[in-house]
Amino acid sequence: MIAIVGGGLSGLACAVELQRAGKTFALFEASPCLGGRQRTSKKDGFTLDHGFQVILSSYKTVASVCDISLLSPCRFESGALLHDGRRLTRLGSPFENPFSALLTPAFCVGDKIRLAWLGLELLLTPCTKLLARCASPDDRSTRAFLSQRGFSKSFFTRFAQPFFGGVLLDNDLATSAGLFLYYLKKFITGHAWIPAAGIQALPESLASRLPSSAIHLNRRVTAIAHEPRGLVLENGEVVSADKIILALDHPSLCRLLRLPPPSSARSVTVVYFKTQTSLYKQPRIVLPEGATRRVRHFVQITNIAPGFAPTGWHLISATILDGGNLSGKELADAAAHEIGGCFPHAAGSLEHLETIHVPYAVPDQPPGFAARNPFPDLPQHVYACGDWERGASIEAALGSGIETVKRVLCA
Ligand SMILES: Cc1cc2nc3c(=O)[nH]c(=O)nc-3n(C[C@H](O)[C@H](O)[C@H](O)COP(=O)(O)OP(=O)(O)OC[C@H]3O[C@@H](n4cnc5c(N)ncnc54)[C@H](O)[C@@H]3O)c2cc1C
Repeated sequence: MIAIVGGGLSGLACAVELQRAGKTFALFEASPCLGGRQRTSKKDGFTLDHGFQVILSSYKTVASVCDISLLSPCRFESGALLHDGRRLTRLGSPFENPFSALLTPAFCVGDKIRLAWLGLELLLTPCTKLLARCASPDDRSTRAFLSQRGFSKSFFTRFAQPFFGGVLLDNDLATSAGLFLYYLKKFITGHAWIPAAGIQALPESLASRLPSSAIHLNRRVTAIAHEPRGLVLENGEVVSADKIILALDHPSLCRLLRLPPPSSARSVTVVYFKTQTSLYKQPRIVLPEGATRRVRHFVQITNIAPGFAPTGWHLISATILDGGNLSGKELADAAAHEIGGCFPHAAGSLEHLETIHVPYAVPDQPPGFAARNPFPDLPQHVYACGDWERGASIEAALGSGIETVKRVLCA
């Protein structure tokens, strides 16, 4: 029997692969539901994802583990709305509509040329090469990479920080340039979408392919047993297993293996507002300019997924990377003020609905992060996977699970 510890995307991908291979497995998840960091809750008829998460159509692994059409994908329009404090500028994807991108007043001519050139380079570079860069000693930070390419200061404040700072959950753009380039390629070659029922529908759709008898919820694993091989559960029960896959987030993996926790990670807060006055019509995110803003980006998510709100209402999701020392109320007030500043006609209509803090959202991914192996001393029958391995994303978490099962089956 193969035991999987963790029911997030990486653990579920392991289970789907083992099921395909006809192997007997059991999955142990500490919490009452599957999905890990892909969580959706309901409040007053509104659908609230725990953090703004999108799937990209260029994520090939997603289609290999579930039937995307069953998730009723709700699609974002490529590009974004930029707000410079005075006016809103529509930024089309330079790669979908080069003409409109060429005309946009959002960037100076030099930045347009630099971006077009970078996009072309990425189209010609395979993803494997971009990811290999994340393990290279020559990798550097996203900020250093863009600076070296000559991008202007306004490109950083208008686009790079609000957009990629939001994607990488990293205000300073200190994340690996290899990872940034990989995501940029994925954005260029695909469009973003979310399931009509919220992001948790993705792990649920993987789980629906698995036998329920193999899934054990509310079963926290507290130790690995060596003689005989198996797992120790929180309730003292010992489960025997020939092979064990630890499909855990980095801090949980360290805890289980009695190792020091990772020194840093990225957290995020999402503040939800409801309103009966539509802010704007396009199915796009809004990137407010400025390094000192609390709201990194926001979106009237019902423009993309109308079912996220009861009839007559709109739902706004605001992503905040650094809440400082503000209380929940102060943070909500600050977010409402900033959003209202971009759309004064609706400023008075915003009603705070919920604030969700995600203390551990994604691991730190500094330049060269993929070269390190944080768990070199695992016993031969124990394997580890998760999004800490090769870049925190839906695609990477699924891919890490699938690759790990290949190793398990080859051993
Ligand atoms: C706010 C936010 C925004 C994001 N945005 C995007 C995005 O837009 N696009 C994108 O591609 N990716 C995004 N991601 C990243 C993506 O969601 C994650 O990389 C992925 O979900 C991680 O899956 P995982 O299986 O590696 O880990 P997890 O989801 O953390 O799964 C680990 C599981 O292990 C369980 N567990 C822990 N300890 C134990 C134990 N001792 N015993 C049993 N079970 C245990 C946990 O309860 C959890 O269910 C975002 C993540 C967050 C949080």
